[in-house]
Amino acid sequence: MKRFVSFAALAAAALAQFEATDFNVTEALLDNGIDCNSLKVLFGDDQVETRSETAYSSWLNSLWSGQQRLIAPECVFKPEKPLDISTAILIARLTECPFAAKSGGHSSVPGGSNIAGGISISFVEKMNAISVSSDKKTVSFQPGNTWLNIYTRAAKDGLAVNGGRVASVGVGGLLLGGGISYTGGINGMSCDNIISYELVTASGLVINVDQNKYADLYWALRGGGNNFGIVTKFTVEAFPLGPTMWGGMRTYTQGAFSALIDAYYNLGMNAPQDGKAHQILSFSFRAPNVQLANVELEYAEPNANASILAEYNAIGGALRDQTAVRSLAELTTLLDGPASGTGLRQGFWTWTMKLDKEMATVAKDIFFEEVTSISDAADLVPAFSLQVLSTPILEKTAKRGGNALGLTAADGPLINALVALKWSNPADDTRMWRFAQKVKDRSFAAATAKGKAHPYVYMNYASPWQDPVASYGSTNKARLISISKKYDPTSVFERLQPGYFKLTRAAYSGSP
Ligand SMILES: Cc1cc2nc3c(=O)[nH]c(=O)nc-3n(C[C@H](O)[C@H](O)[C@H](O)COP(=O)(O)OP(=O)(O)OC[C@H]3O[C@@H](n4cnc5c(N)ncnc54)[C@H](O)[C@@H]3O)c2cc1C
Repeated sequence: MKRFVSFAALAAAALAQFEATDFNVTEALLDNGIDCNSLKVLFGDDQVETRSETAYSSWLNSLWSGQQRLIAPECVFKPEKPLDISTAILIARLTECPFAAKSGGHSSVPGGSNIAGGISISFVEKMNAISVSSDKKTVSFQPGNTWLNIYTRAAKDGLAVNGGRVASVGVGGLLLGGGISYTGGINGMSCDNIISYELVTASGLVINVDQNKYADLYWALRGGGNNFGIVTKFTVEAFPLGPTMWGGMRTYTQGAFSALIDAYYNLGMNAPQDGKAHQILSFSFRAPNVQLANVELEYAEPNANASILAEYNAIGGALRDQTAVRSLAELTTLLDGPASGTGLRQGFWTWTMKLDKEMATVAKDIFFEEVTSISDAADLVPAFSLQVLSTPILEKTAKRGGNALGLTAADGPLINALVALKWSNPADDTRMWRFAQKVKDRSFAAATAKGKAHPYVYMNYASPWQDPVASYGSTNKARLISISKKYDPTSVFERLQPGYFKLTRAAYSGSP
């Protein structure tokens, strides 16, 4: 209802009472037509893109997954400062308009960082500052950054931080869900190296959160995902690195699989001896029946012959060997090539097992057995990867009061398993997801039968139907919910920002 009234009505009202005692400003604003499009009026064309604008379509194409690109927000909002985000959250609350936030846009969850008919908040354009502290102990950055930006800037001061391994991945999602890093053996998960957060809360307050101020929120933000507010600045521990280190990918055929799994297991078990080494062992398939293994190896010094890598280095016959001495930034750029497949449809499914040779082999075999059922899908790129949450990584989950992930050194060492799929035809969606789920279900059942299964679900690799927060354990889940009730009593981040993994549910209900 528009609030134009006739002079006669006004005059009559003036005789009685011009403004009712229960006059509701909120309702009046809504009657005047305030809605999420009002951001355009408040912030102008430069900060708000709507459907007819080219910048809106280009923004959609900046999302990593094809499914996320097809979601049409009402507008894309590009804040310049924390107060802009505060205003957007309050307008979203006023108008009950849903919103999403995008950092690097690499979520594999459709709707994880873009929202149909709502406000998609994007940091990349105007909130991408980075600074190194004068004592060179910390790096602070806004959520519009990718890891390539951070590593490039930190390297100018001879520093690095414990972040992602692929250049174009964003800082926001990775840090809020955990973070597996090349240097995890030295520093732990990325979230365990965060000193402080600048956070916009549900009530639009901008607060600084660290181990002493809002200590409960500080704990919750380390693994709690997008459920506690919008982070507008991360300050993380820095450490000297470089200018170069060693690493890259080697590719092998089937004959090397068994030796690779042995080397994977031994490097994982030996991690306490030398935390500078890093590995990802992946298996890939190409129709009709090409099976390959790719091993991504790194060492946090320019040393190709570290003794901890001797077993891997002794495996001959690589089809391709890209390992070399490089900067951290170059390594992340190299890994972006095969990893991105930007714009294709994407699906992740993850699970956790005790580090065990037999379990790694069984899961790899199940992946190859099942993959033939989807091998006719157009543009299919199927991969199964094995990483290790080693004892040194798990020990550091206790840093600064611990995190929300529910992991301790006593749990480990652990296999982090991931099925990652790319495909192009929406008609294949269901069978792709079901394939990934089946590989996980069969592998997890085999691990359970041998007492080797572990409940942890890594949020950053989870499928939309998995529930990472439940996997942190009932005590941590209850603690997260109670912290959320304290700082966000009306559940703004659960109700109005429904995408991604919530405290009480998976991103999607049921199963694919
Ligand atoms: C190619 C590729 C490589 C990867 N490499 C690694 C790796 O090396 N290590 C690893 O651990 N993981 C890795 N991942 C997984 C990665 O951590 C997740 O995909 C992560 O969500 C990506 O973060 P993003 O900021 O790019 O994603 P986005 O899609 O922008 O965000 C993911 C979620 O985080 C929320 N979010 C983002 N920023 C903020 C913020 N500032 N405040 C509040 N919420 C926010 C979003 O709303 C969304 O729900 C990789 C993924 C891909 C696709």
